[in-house]
Amino acid sequence: MHEQCLALVGNDCKSYLLAALCSYTLLIMDNIVKKQFSEMETYIPGRPIEQVKAQYGLKKVVKLASNESPLGPTPAALEAINKYSQQLNRYPDIEATILRDTLAKYYNLAGENFLIGNGSNELLRIAGQAVLNPGDEVIFAEPSFVVYRMIAEFFEAQEVPVALKNHTHDLEAMLSAVSAKTKLIFVCNPNNPTGTMVDRTQLEDFINEVPDGVLVVVDEAYAEFVEDRKKYPQDLNYSVNKPIIVTRTFSKLYGLAGLRIGYGIAPSSYVAVDRKIRDPFNVNLLAQAAATASLEDKEEAQKRYKKNLENKLYLCQGLKEKGIEFVESQANFILIDTAQDSTLVFEKLLKKGVIVRTGEIFGESYRNYIRVSIGSKDEIDFFLEAMKTI
Ligand code: PMP
Repeated sequence: MHEQCLALVGNDCKSYLLAALCSYTLLIMDNIVKKQFSEMETYIPGRPIEQVKAQYGLKKVVKLASNESPLGPTPAALEAINKYSQQLNRYPDIEATILRDTLAKYYNLAGENFLIGNGSNELLRIAGQAVLNPGDEVIFAEPSFVVYRMIAEFFEAQEVPVALKNHTHDLEAMLSAVSAKTKLIFVCNPNNPTGTMVDRTQLEDFINEVPDGVLVVVDEAYAEFVEDRKKYPQDLNYSVNKPIIVTRTFSKLYGLAGLRIGYGIAPSSYVAVDRKIRDPFNVNLLAQAAATASLEDKEEAQKRYKKNLENKLYLCQGLKEKGIEFVESQANFILIDTAQDSTLVFEKLLKKGVIVRTGEIFGESYRNYIRVSIGSKDEIDFFLEAMKTI
């Protein structure tokens, strides 16, 4: 019908008619789509390198915006991808059995306690889908990973953000925020974007105080980078017999962000629920194979941990020499105080070929901050050089 109308009018009218049709479609879509989605903000990813190159006519662009690994996938993962690509005509194992078994061995837990997701992001959303009804409350720190807020919005739940204290989760205040309507609590440890962590005793005390009927999701996307390993709640056993899910990812230390694979540790009764909610074959064949191979190469993981530490110290030293303040981080990124509106710094850095994250997405009190991922030494030098001129 639209095509017939367009065929009847001349070229001059066509663009007006198309614009009108577009507005009309927008209007009717707005009526069809659930209200929370038409009002919701879209997730803003870090700017892609090629786009920035084209926009500013730059030859070299460095992306330090998405906490990706500068090292790429591990050699073992690449080998596995190569091998399994011959089998791409087949659906992947719906249970990701080999990966689960490898995880079970790695953590000395049972395979039935593992969730495998299309990125750990999927596991976070499924947790919301599993427990939230409209009007329920979701507690999370602010600023923290923006997806927690989005999950509350997806399921028409009430967002209950709790401000950080000294850039760290204020677990006491989060406990005080618990009400009869609370269904879900996210704890991001280490926290994105501050890189701070809560230690084992703090987290265990918190978990013990959370009333029955509340699901706690401990998002440990940056666990493998933690320096203070003695204090970090490493053993994960607390999640097997309580309504707690711990999520981790292969996107960061293991350099598989492009394949989308993460995992979770949870009570087997929850794993059975996740199995019902997730899409069949949610995790692709290459991701399963690459993740298994990555996990088996412990030596490479340790090498990457050390490299991140070394480069983080290098970046921090560079910042100190310039008198730039930053938050001490346990992760693979640093939150830097630019002492001015960070959107201006972001724009200036972009023009020099450095992509970072701005503070305005972290909320008003973090407006002056940028979050910078730990890149390679060369990328850090490029960033520090660009900062010199700003
Ligand atoms: N949690 C946190 C805190 C993150 O920063 C990210 C990625 N930026 C994720 C979860 C999602 O990671 P993925 O889906 O790649 O596993």
